[in-house]
Amino acid sequence: MSTPKASPSLDRTTAAPFVEVLVDCPGTDKLFTYRVPSDLSIQPGDILSVPFGAQQVGAIAIRFLADLPPELATTRILKVVDVACRTLFPPGYWQLLEKVAAYYHTSLMAVIRVALPPGLLQRSQRRIRLNTTLHPHDINGLGAAAQGILALLQQSPSQDYTWQYLRRQIKKAQVGLRELQQQGLVESYLQTQAPTKPRQQQAVTLTDPSAPDLTVRQQEILTLLKHEGGELWAQDLLRLAHTSSTTLKKLASKGCITLHQQERLRLETSPIQPDQPRTLTPDQAGVLAQIHRLQDYAEVLLHGVTGSGKTEVYLQAITPVLARKQSVIVLVPEIGLTPQLTDRFRSRFGDRIRVYHSALSDGERYDTWRQFLTSTPQVVIGTRSAIFAPIANIGLVILDEEHDTGYKQDQPAPCYHARTVARWRAQQADCPLILGSATPCLESWSQTPPANPKPSQASIHYLRLPRRVHARPMPPIEIVDMRLELADRNHSIFSRLLQKRLHSLQQNRQQGLLFMPRRGHSTFVSCRSCGYVSECPHCSVSLTYHHSPDSRQTLLRCHYCNYAQPQPEVCPVCKSSYFRFFGSGTQRVMEELAKTFPELRVIRFDSDTTRRKGAHRQLLNQFARGEADLMVGTQMLTKGIDLPQVQLIGVLAADSLLNIPDFRASERTFQTLLQVAGRAGRGEHPGQVLLQTYAPEHPVIQAVQKYEMDSFLFAELKQRQEANYPPFHQLILLRISGLNEMMVEKTALEIANYLHAYIHTHCYQGTILGPAPANILRVARRYYWHVLIKRPQTEMGQTELWPFPMQGCQRRCPQNIRLQVDVDPLKLL
Ligand code: ADP
Ligand code: ZN
Ligand code: ZN
Repeated sequence: MSTPKASPSLDRTTAAPFVEVLVDCPGTDKLFTYRVPSDLSIQPGDILSVPFGAQQVGAIAIRFLADLPPELATTRILKVVDVACRTLFPPGYWQLLEKVAAYYHTSLMAVIRVALPPGLLQRSQRRIRLNTTLHPHDINGLGAAAQGILALLQQSPSQDYTWQYLRRQIKKAQVGLRELQQQGLVESYLQTQAPTKPRQQQAVTLTDPSAPDLTVRQQEILTLLKHEGGELWAQDLLRLAHTSSTTLKKLASKGCITLHQQERLRLETSPIQPDQPRTLTPDQAGVLAQIHRLQDYAEVLLHGVTGSGKTEVYLQAITPVLARKQSVIVLVPEIGLTPQLTDRFRSRFGDRIRVYHSALSDGERYDTWRQFLTSTPQVVIGTRSAIFAPIANIGLVILDEEHDTGYKQDQPAPCYHARTVARWRAQQADCPLILGSATPCLESWSQTPPANPKPSQASIHYLRLPRRVHARPMPPIEIVDMRLELADRNHSIFSRLLQKRLHSLQQNRQQGLLFMPRRGHSTFVSCRSCGYVSECPHCSVSLTYHHSPDSRQTLLRCHYCNYAQPQPEVCPVCKSSYFRFFGSGTQRVMEELAKTFPELRVIRFDSDTTRRKGAHRQLLNQFARGEADLMVGTQMLTKGIDLPQVQLIGVLAADSLLNIPDFRASERTFQTLLQVAGRAGRGEHPGQVLLQTYAPEHPVIQAVQKYEMDSFLFAELKQRQEANYPPFHQLILLRISGLNEMMVEKTALEIANYLHAYIHTHCYQGTILGPAPANILRVARRYYWHVLIKRPQTEMGQTELWPFPMQGCQRRCPQNIRLQVDVDPLKLL
């Protein structure tokens, strides 16, 4: 484990007698000073064990002191207990974390908690084990301490002890250990807590499907189980058969099935076929040639339609980087996407792939993280926190689906965006950053030459893949006007056209996706006859419906500025009194499907059914094997499903997206709908997309139908400029929360007033919006209020630096009120 170049801070030795550390204890963010025992050598970045209050906790060595500050009494300074983990972070790594903390206005410790794997700081133990592949030739040549350690380890049944134990047993153990390590006779490693136990889970096995006097329902369940191969996890059967555990127990008592505990394996390895680079299409080759030309830091927006072969470009861009013995970070937005993608990377690069995401177990995460610290060239694939992988010598950073909101962390702090951090990392490593997407976000696109009147201001190269591989056409998009359905007395959530298509799906042995866009708990009201939706007169976002049991009047409220108005009795445009209250999810769609199309085999794919580890892969495989006709899901369905047999895509209500109370609603809808459409027609047949809406004439719906990207982006950019939104203004959202509603409101008001006065006295440009109650006012007994700050950027991406007065805001927060700062927020609800 070695890093070729150490940063200046890592060169410092521990001649100094005191070390300042960051202690991993929630709520403590300042540095604490400890004495360095004479037999310990410590370097900045080392993970230490230190006494803290009554406990021993993890800490990170930050810097050394030759003398104590006068206010600290020497006698009260405690000693570092041990080095839990020697970690040679790559050069500049700490500066990166400090930059994140400064930009997002959080503590360094909060950033460290995101960056390091869980358990590393907490209660981890350094252990020493005998290297059994090497036999000591000349024990007598070793020092006494080394011999002592060796003897102890040889006695231990596992040939392994904690370092703390060895130090207590052997004098000058540190010297001995160094000697043994130099000769490669022992190695030291870190053991995290939480020893892993095999996971047991209830399984169901079919034993006798033909028992007498079974009800129809019971027979159905047994038939389903038989179709699934006679064995299923109980929870899967309950879900698939919509049944209860009581029913299963009854079936077990009749001897039809057995219920038993079985180990569930944690590994998700799939056999990988080695794979060769494809011959590139002329478009791909052109793009790749331009990427190869980049040497130093440069940012590239790779704008390729769905199925245009972006992934193949990434793979071939990575090959020469690895050949140069450099490493690569590839970020993907969500784990639902990674099985297929990581398989493709694995088959190309084999064991140089490291997959890192939060769905790994703590142990897996820790083991993978340790691999980062080795100097082997590697490709890290992971979700947003993988941008903090402490690998050295990075030659390329890639963000796939760069527009995806999954790259932003909203809770807990730091509320970082992986794209922003990726930019800093690429700058630090002086290597290219590739942002790939079929639907780039406005922030990125606005910095490319096509969006800039003065190309000299464009900071991002723009590369385009305008066609699908094999010249497959994009699927045609049909719009269904749901207002006409109502007029013709069709009250179902499925239009007549969609019903027809669903009927023929099974007959023609085809498969389809039904997509129910939904975001959070956003609820809005739309006129069922004309599609009218109330908007805030100040903020151009839709108003949100508030169901308040104690007030007789229903209020529509703006979540940016707190403007409110009563819900009108009749539509102000067409005078109809029929309103539709949006906000229902996949559950309801499943129920309707079961009623209208009982013969259709349906898989539900949303955050509820994919929560379990490996569930994404399992459901996708089931669907890919043709075990269902239809997959029903939320946004998640848009992510990277690449199934050639998908023919039909139905979008149930595009309006749920259009009317989220967010200034990015149009952009999000556009992106989501195009991503959804991109799932169809990936095989031989072109496929078809059916889009139901109450607002067929809406510019976004129109642009989507015609696949009109550029004109949409230009129009959107213009609107952002007029309304002072990003990328022209920067937003900072303050979330103020607490258990006492009055207190939260009062604090929010005080902070807003303070900020008003602050920008006024300094003559700063900008606006303070709110305070306004959050959309979901109360979460986990806490009340949330928001204050939104808009401050201008001088040039694209360059914040005009009026400093955000974090301390002034914090001073206005009483003890039991929490203030959270979200810089560049994506969720404003
Ligand atoms: P994107 O990432 O842009 O959606 P992919 O890289 O997934 O596109 O490519 C879509 C499909 O086309 C995949 O099945 C991929 O294997 C295939 N493909 C990509 N590039 C080529 C190529 N040059 N020749 C043949 N097939 C290709
Ligand atoms: Zn109306
Ligand atoms: Zn408003």
